[in-house]
Amino acid sequence: MLTVSDVHLSFRGVRALAGVSLTVEPGETLGIIGPNGSGKSTLFNVISGIYKPDRGRVTFLGTDVTAAEPRSIVSLGLARTYQNKRLFGSLTVLENVVVPALRTQAGSWLGDIVGRSAGRAAADAKARDCLAFVGLHDVADVQANSLAYGQQNRLEIARALALDPKLLMLDEPAAGLSPPERIEMRDLIERVKARGTAVALVEHDMRVVMQLCSRLVVLDHGEVIATGSPAEVTANPDVIAAYFGVPVDD
Ligand code: ADP
Ligand code: MG
Repeated sequence: MLTVSDVHLSFRGVRALAGVSLTVEPGETLGIIGPNGSGKSTLFNVISGIYKPDRGRVTFLGTDVTAAEPRSIVSLGLARTYQNKRLFGSLTVLENVVVPALRTQAGSWLGDIVGRSAGRAAADAKARDCLAFVGLHDVADVQANSLAYGQQNRLEIARALALDPKLLMLDEPAAGLSPPERIEMRDLIERVKARGTAVALVEHDMRVVMQLCSRLVVLDHGEVIATGSPAEVTANPDVIAAYFGVPVDD
């Protein structure tokens, strides 16, 4: 459903992506791992249309989206979360999810926001469903800023789910979570998979990655250095060297 072909992107001479190619198949959960600075978040930014690549192509569900605006990529069914969360801190938890939920209602979402309440009730109901799905229904009326860190991660996911994605891209959803919260996060992603939604998962917690992903892509210095099953990839000497900075023999 997603094809990334030979994508290159440099920031003023800093090579962030250097010929990255990968695919995500329908219903698949693809893990994308690699050391800090290897280009994982930049790759998400290219796929979701935030950055335009210097070279290469991104196609989603048969449409070339390399030069597309983020909003049209979202409309095709691709949603994401951010490593640095992008919540509307002064809005309530519910309102954070109503904003994307309004987009998927028929008619003018702008009109709905400014007061014509045709789609608002439906968006409200949908937002509440999404909050229940991630386990935040009991804090719907709380200001987003006042949520605990782990709850904010789940709110990001609720907002993405409100866009009815066919592919959900998650950038380090378990980062900064306690061990029990990590298990909750793993179970939440498991439930997303069970809906049939494809997932692209950037995550450092290898237990979470191993349990959720049947296939991994490993980035290092903006290049794909390995692709395969979790067992294949973690036994790969190039991958071990990328993580520990020394050849495996040493
Ligand atoms: P990862 O998510 O794998 O930790 P990033 O994609 O955030 O890595 O970063 C890859 C490289 O690109 C790093 O060297 C980073 O400093 C650089 N980089 C990322 N975004 C920008 C930007 N907006 N401007 C300049 N350099 C950037
Ligand atoms: Mg990152």
